[in-house]
Amino acid sequence: MDVVATRLDRSRLPMWAAGGLALVCGAILAFSGWTEWASRNSEMRNAETDLGNLARSLTQHVEDTFELADSLMRGVVTALETDDGKPGAITRLQTILKSRKATLGRVRGVFAYDEKGDWLATTEDVTLTNYNNSDRDYFVHHRVSADRSLLIGRPVQSKSGGQWVITLSRRWNHADGRFGGVVLATIDVAYFAQFYRQFDVGQHGSISLVSRDGVVLADNSEPDPKRPGGPAVEAIPYHPAAGPLSFRRFGEKSERIGFYQHAQRYPFLVLATRTEADVLAAWKRNAIVRLSVLMCLVALVIAIGIFLVKQLLQRQQLAAALAAKEENFRLLAEGSSDIVTRIELDECIGYVSPSTMRVLGWHPSQLLGKRAISGVNPLDRPQLQEMLDQIKKGIVDEARATYRMRRRDKSEIWVEATIRATRQPDGTLDGFVAVTRDVTQQKTLQGRLETLAIEDGLTGLANRRRFDERLLEEWGRAYREKTSLALLMIDIDHFKAFNDTYGHPAGDECLHTVAGILADEALRSSDLVARYGGEEFAILLPNTDAVGCARLGERIRRALHDARIVHDHNPPGFVTASIGAAVCRPGFERSAGPASLIEAADRALYAAKDGGRDRMVMAGEVVDLPASKAPATVPA
Ligand code: GH3
Ligand code: MG
Ligand code: MG
Repeated sequence: MDVVATRLDRSRLPMWAAGGLALVCGAILAFSGWTEWASRNSEMRNAETDLGNLARSLTQHVEDTFELADSLMRGVVTALETDDGKPGAITRLQTILKSRKATLGRVRGVFAYDEKGDWLATTEDVTLTNYNNSDRDYFVHHRVSADRSLLIGRPVQSKSGGQWVITLSRRWNHADGRFGGVVLATIDVAYFAQFYRQFDVGQHGSISLVSRDGVVLADNSEPDPKRPGGPAVEAIPYHPAAGPLSFRRFGEKSERIGFYQHAQRYPFLVLATRTEADVLAAWKRNAIVRLSVLMCLVALVIAIGIFLVKQLLQRQQLAAALAAKEENFRLLAEGSSDIVTRIELDECIGYVSPSTMRVLGWHPSQLLGKRAISGVNPLDRPQLQEMLDQIKKGIVDEARATYRMRRRDKSEIWVEATIRATRQPDGTLDGFVAVTRDVTQQKTLQGRLETLAIEDGLTGLANRRRFDERLLEEWGRAYREKTSLALLMIDIDHFKAFNDTYGHPAGDECLHTVAGILADEALRSSDLVARYGGEEFAILLPNTDAVGCARLGERIRRALHDARIVHDHNPPGFVTASIGAAVCRPGFERSAGPASLIEAADRALYAAKDGGRDRMVMAGEVVDLPASKAPATVPA
């Protein structure tokens, strides 16, 4: 279960890695987005605070300016009302006003008019006798209204100088309360405009001085003859006395933020505004740079991530392919009836396939770590060890051997093993792989076939083929070692008659018995008794001279007599045989080879038959045979 789970988890690793990467990148982007948004908001708040501070201090500035003008006007009103009708009053006032000229500061001029709108006195150097101001709005207002408070009027174009001015006016009364005239103070619109232009409120920001009834007295826009005295663009609340605003001006793309501040003592307010685009321009520029850099980094991280995930996938595919291949090889090894063994360099078993259970009776786990040759028959070990050594030395890369192994039940089997070197990619030997097969059956079969090939089925003696082989070998040996080689050819007498009398099976039985007698008599291990054909036998006697050969022939003849195998149609009444013997010394004689020996023995045999049977004849020599009536000789 665990293995399966791990494999599943591993297979999802690239997916997890890709997901994790996307998450991290997403988090980085989200965090930077949030930071940028926060920095934008802070930028807006700061701008709002700045606008507030600006509006407040400018309001104070205007109030101070108006205060200055108003205090002058109050003085003039008092002087006019106190000295009304007194001789020289106007001249005195004119003198006072002239003397105050230097202290006027931002106030352009102070003027006094009588009830008809004619000029009485002024701080200016000009002569205004020709001007009448009774048509001015403020004059009309004061004439009809008993209100004596300060009036801030619409900007008007000065009749004396032609410039736009803000008018501040008060009514003065005669002693009986009738309208006496107007005292006027003027302040240049341009003064405020220039002053306001000193403040940086961005390209589209505005600073406006607005009267309480919504008339723009001055603003920071470039001088425009039509502008002063126009209505304020925004509707500004009276309560609270100060506060932020947010709006969009007609025809503008960007939202605008602003701050208004009402003056406490005079009916006006100052409004400072900036467009969001201006406020955020710097932030926007920097944010774009920051986000671009970040995006590049994230793109780089994603590119690296994709590369790594691809590598991971590729590696996983390779691993899967390798695992499948290994699995195939494992199945091959485990499904094979042969034993597949991995032998390490120390000649111990590192792996052995399960077929070892069937072939050797050992479970693979019981063989792990054991020496590879430990189960091999001690007689075969040197051969196997030499094979391993040869592979180790690099003399051969593969070797094959057939040897015996002991099974767990102590029985022994024959196996055939192919051992091959395994090498690392750099060519160094790192062990061996052996494929071992049980060949016991083949071995047994082969043994049986080998026996069949050289043994006579009826008698169990060597067959003709075997005899011929041995004759060649022994001839060679005798030739080399200059020893003698003897041959006996034995033929049963009147065997046809035996068959005819007792039947073929009895004949076989007889042949078997005779063969046993021959085998018993040929005592030396080097002697070879063979069935030469039919009822004819041959005995090859290496390293035997004529005497030894004749002695054995005679022993055989006697043994047949002693056996007394009944044979009514053979004169003695039992089975006898005629024997031809020949001896040669290949190292000393000039002869035609092994065939000449057979020939000689054969001739001797015929001689024995001709001589009356039941006798032995030596080729090329006279042997005294006690049983025979006369010694038999044949030419060699
Ligand atoms: P001789 O004394 O001249 O050797 O006479 P013979 O009858 O022994 O000789 P012959 O060669 O005429 O006959 C050999 C007989 O041996 C013929 C055959 O029936 C018999 N014979 C040969 N091989 C076998 C055999 O394997 N089994 C049996 N039962 N008889 C065999
Ligand atoms: Mg014969
Ligand atoms: Mg015969």
